[in-house]
Amino acid sequence: MPVELKEIEQAISGITRRFDRAYWLKCYKERRFTDELWQAMADAGLLGAGIPEEYGGVGGGLTETVAVMDGLSKAGLAPLYLVITGLSRAAILKHGTEEQKQRYIPPTVTGEEKFCFAITEPNAGTNSFKIQTIAKDTGKGTYKISGQKIFISGADVAEWILLVARTTPYSQVKDRREGLALFIVDAKAPGIELNPLNVAMVCPERQFIVNFDEVEVPAENLVGEKDKGVRVLFDALNPERLLVAAMSLGIGDFALQKAVEYANTRAPFDEPIGSYQALQHPMAYAKAHLEASRLMLYRAAQVYDAGSVAGAESNMAKLLCTEAATEACEIALQTHGGYGFDLDYDVVSLWSIARIMEVAPINNQMVLNFLGEKVLGLSKSYGRFRG
Ligand SMILES: Cc1cc2nc3c(=O)[nH]c(=O)nc-3n(C[C@H](O)[C@H](O)[C@H](O)COP(=O)(O)OP(=O)(O)OC[C@H]3O[C@@H](n4cnc5c(N)ncnc54)[C@H](O)[C@@H]3O)c2cc1C
Repeated sequence: MPVELKEIEQAISGITRRFDRAYWLKCYKERRFTDELWQAMADAGLLGAGIPEEYGGVGGGLTETVAVMDGLSKAGLAPLYLVITGLSRAAILKHGTEEQKQRYIPPTVTGEEKFCFAITEPNAGTNSFKIQTIAKDTGKGTYKISGQKIFISGADVAEWILLVARTTPYSQVKDRREGLALFIVDAKAPGIELNPLNVAMVCPERQFIVNFDEVEVPAENLVGEKDKGVRVLFDALNPERLLVAAMSLGIGDFALQKAVEYANTRAPFDEPIGSYQALQHPMAYAKAHLEASRLMLYRAAQVYDAGSVAGAESNMAKLLCTEAATEACEIALQTHGGYGFDLDYDVVSLWSIARIMEVAPINNQMVLNFLGEKVLGLSKSYGRFRG
């Protein structure tokens, strides 16, 4: 029997009774992964939400994974790694061979193995088609991969990297969507080097520059077909958008709750600042926008689970949820006055997560481009030369 949302709620309550925001921040300060939380999620079956039972999961679909992300983030435990894991598993489940599914999915459910995801490059940025990391077929049942990836979250704690590379260089393809491929790469393979970045996101998962120098990967680790990776990629991107949307929303809720508590007690003029409409109305707006965005989020997940790619819905949900989260964090900052900027008050730290999610993994301008072009039927607004 597939897991039900009620059971997910109960499992999340069990987790949030054991782990709180202080634990999460402690991990961030110690610059270490939330190992205990991750294992507890695995033990409670939460890492198996949305994964078919034959691969060790508890069944359900993206709706259930989104509910896990939403519920934990609302408690301030935002598991960024679940976004990366979710997107990597979506790619493997949809396009992997049976052997790949049997080998790689179950250990992610038990928490024994984790995937990070590497597509972004310094010279390509938002234009992922322009990546230069190259995977050369050696003709001996392996590929040799060379190139550089940037901003790779959690690369230090991953067992595997789901890597997007070019099997044909950008300069040699007629259609820029051709020539890509995804590989499952052993994160500890010879030729891989990590350099940490100093990104201002208060989150236990850190970002890295990852260099690949002739990294040898067995051909059986190719997910999908050589040169046809764009399909694999596109099928994983909408789940990623929805997981990011859920994480943002949860953080928005958490920040708003904090703002309300503070506004009910802080009283420089001897009456609680929450009684002033200048603060109360923006808080009320933020609440309404969070809840409206949540409806879009679950609607998009349901459309996806019903078998559609849910491109329009996922992009709308990503846009609305990330903006609603930033709005909630903004009013939380305003409410806290100067203290909001004291990192120890943990408000600007929430804002940093919400605001970054408007830029990564896909910036909201690209989301608007998609909606303008693909949903409304307007002309493409960028990349007129060879974008
Ligand atoms: C905290 C964090 C974690 C990340 N984790 C990962 C990860 O795990 N794996 C991974 O591969 N990557 C990761 N990234 C990278 C992230 O996906 C990229 O930063 C993002 O895709 C944008 O690329 P860029 O920063 O090069 O921006 P650019 O491409 O340089 O764009 C800069 C800005 O220009 C505007 N812009 C760009 N193109 C357009 C356009 N066509 N139309 C309108 N406006 C446009 C946007 O406002 C955009 O923000 C992470 C980034 C951050 C900050």
